[in-house]
Amino acid sequence: MTATLTEDVAARYDPTIGLETHVELGTASKMFCGCPATFGAEPNTQVCPVCLGLPGSLPVANAAAVESTVRIGLALNCTIAEWCRFARKNYFYPDMPKNFQISQYDEPLCTDGWLDVEVGGQVVRVGIERVHLEEDTGKTLHVGGATGRIHGADHSLVDYNRAGIPLVEIVTKPVTGTGALAPQVARAYVTELRELLRGLGVSDVRMEQGSLRCDVNVSLSPAGSGVLGTRSETKNVNSLRSVERAVRFEIARQAAVLDAGGRVVQETRHFHEDTGETTPGRSKEEATDYRYFPEPDLVPLAPHPEWVEALRSTLPELPAVRRSRLAERLGATPFEMESMANAGVVDLVASTVDAGASPAEARNWWLGYLTQQANAAGVEPTELAIGPAQVARVIELVADGTLSTGLARQAVGGVLETGADVDTVVAERGLRRVSDVDALAAAVDEAIAAQPDVAEKVRGGKVAAAGALVGVVMKATRGQADPKLVRELVLSRLGAG
Ligand SMILES: [Zn+2]
Repeated sequence: MTATLTEDVAARYDPTIGLETHVELGTASKMFCGCPATFGAEPNTQVCPVCLGLPGSLPVANAAAVESTVRIGLALNCTIAEWCRFARKNYFYPDMPKNFQISQYDEPLCTDGWLDVEVGGQVVRVGIERVHLEEDTGKTLHVGGATGRIHGADHSLVDYNRAGIPLVEIVTKPVTGTGALAPQVARAYVTELRELLRGLGVSDVRMEQGSLRCDVNVSLSPAGSGVLGTRSETKNVNSLRSVERAVRFEIARQAAVLDAGGRVVQETRHFHEDTGETTPGRSKEEATDYRYFPEPDLVPLAPHPEWVEALRSTLPELPAVRRSRLAERLGATPFEMESMANAGVVDLVASTVDAGASPAEARNWWLGYLTQQANAAGVEPTELAIGPAQVARVIELVADGTLSTGLARQAVGGVLETGADVDTVVAERGLRRVSDVDALAAAVDEAIAAQPDVAEKVRGGKVAAAGALVGVVMKATRGQADPKLVRELVLSRLGAG
């Protein structure tokens, strides 16, 4: 229904999307000090005078972070600045100990690139406006309320471990002309970007831990007018699926406002995972409110062109190139590769094939049942409690007749629930298919005895009626019998085979 709604709206309005992605770099230390940048430590144990903004402390830029940012810029086909500066972005917030953030403003390190994504068989080139380097803020924790938001909380705590972690911001140019595909394009872009960043090894890109966070801008303009509408900015959307849902919701919401003769307000909004809706946050500050000025405590960055070229020569194979290489090995059509890429399962399928499964079976499992399970649990397929080796084992057990497809799903369900391996689940839950003729014969006889009228019909030549008896046997054996074999037994018992 929501898909149709977007198409309906796209007939009247042209959606424009823009994405701002924040990536925490996986450097050993923070951006401007030597504190460790690891995730999950006890609050406020990874801090020092620099990242706490104590008077007299001076920042020094992290060379590894600059290198990672240049590599990201190169992989995104950007121009790398030969000279640029950091800037102070001034605003007061308790999670920012200095009351300003060191960022980049009018002199970003990388500019004017692009990333191609594939949606519905067509390639959409997403322009990259800029890639710049900044420091992350700390984290506030609102305690005592029901929602974890500040409203209704008793008090708030702040953890500065994250303050000063190197953060790269990747900003797209406005993406126009995608019509009803806009929600999928947004998702495909973040998916592709995440693959690219993972391939570069610059970040662990874990959306659920916040090392990849996405702000989604959406605006509508009357179809064919070419006039950009007022945009909303939905902050910190933290899964690929939510990116798509947030765009879809905003398109529908803004269309309803415009249809009613209203005006879209420029504001930031929050996305709610549970309802798939966005609600207003604060109204948007202008850049002038931040009173940016060049950071006086840091020297300018001047990446030497030869160093940049040396980095370019060490870039790994890009995800799109890798996929076209994998497509052959996986025997997948371009459409199948696109589906796998957008579901985030290309590597999972490839690893399952490496573990011995047939490409078609590996694809079926990851794109079908396992993607459904991941969606239902609200996680990425990579986060499921089952991995490629276990999926390959399930496929093997189906191929050798130990499990039927239905039993295989039960086995996978058991692995997802318990984290145990497939063979353990099969043994513990007695999921082996019953193919022993003697064991089945008794169940068949019972079914015939229980349904004499049905048995009579089959004897009389109504072979189709045998299905009811097969059903009884399947139920009695908890789905563990081979339905084909049961059918043969029923028919031969009733002299109709
Ligand atoms: Zn520090």
